Amino acid sequence: MSDSWEILRSECESCKACELHTTRTNCVFGTGNINADLLFVGEAPGDNEDKTGIPFVGRAGQLLDQYLYAVDIPRESVYIANILKCRPPKNRDPLPAEEDACMDFLRRQVKLIRPKIILCLGRIAAMRLIRPDYKITKEHGEWVQKGNFLITAVYHPALLLRDPRRKEEMLVDMKKIKEKLDQID
Ligand code: SF4
Repeated sequence: MSDSWEILRSECESCKACELHTTRTNCVFGTGNINADLLFVGEAPGDNEDKTGIPFVGRAGQLLDQYLYAVDIPRESVYIANILKCRPPKNRDPLPAEEDACMDFLRRQVKLIRPKIILCLGRIAAMRLIRPDYKITKEHGEWVQKGNFLITAVYHPALLLRDPRRKEEMLVDMKKIKEKLDQID
């Protein structure tokens, strides 16, 4: 049977493949343009996301919106998802077993969207999608070809809220991503 957004969302919302289903308010499936050229992948929902069921709506999400606005990428033109679809308690890092249990949803989302660029938001997503030893402070903004798409990583907006000195690097990276997006359009 071929996959569909309806099947995927319904499986995700009823998923009990890891313990996080016991503490979630909502499964945070993903949101945006299902035909997007650019797919953002963060690590996991936070408190606001768990409450609303929508990824990147808290303070970190608002900061991400500012970068999208600054480089002229409409939020509604991209798709935004996370490695984990349910919130880890107290926003702790995802456990490897939780990532393993949840990755199939993201793989299927990628197959349905067929993006040209995947942008990892933060080190956790980069370590999962690019390389386990990925060093975000050294490698952010560098392109890697993986199969049919290009992949790169930038700092997670939550980190920028804690360490605003890195905001300028983030803007440079986001401009590069916009340029690449325009080139492959
Ligand atoms: S985090 Fe993923 S694997 Fe775990 S219960 Fe939620 S949807 Fe299922």
